[in-house]
Amino acid sequence: MAQDPTVETVMTTTSSCESCGMPIESGRYCGHCTDDSGALQSFEDRFARMAAWQARRDPEPSRQDIERKVLDYMATMPAWREHPTVQAR
Ligand SMILES: [Zn+2]
Repeated sequence: MAQDPTVETVMTTTSSCESCGMPIESGRYCGHCTDDSGALQSFEDRFARMAAWQARRDPEPSRQDIERKVLDYMATMPAWREHPTVQAR
């Protein structure tokens, strides 16, 4: 059977954070998305941090464009795609 290199890459990744998509060893969320007790942070916390990160990475677009981008991204994450704010975008 021919090996598809794309599938191979996916197969070797054990898991990815359900909140931000970062590859992780185990569990559902990475260390950036959880609080000290290991619980998932609130939508507002994650949204604010992702928007700040996006603004640092690419400061050109307006705040509105950045927030829309972040919401689009969060809509692909299992932890947030059902969230009312994401659904209402
Ligand atoms: Zn994460």
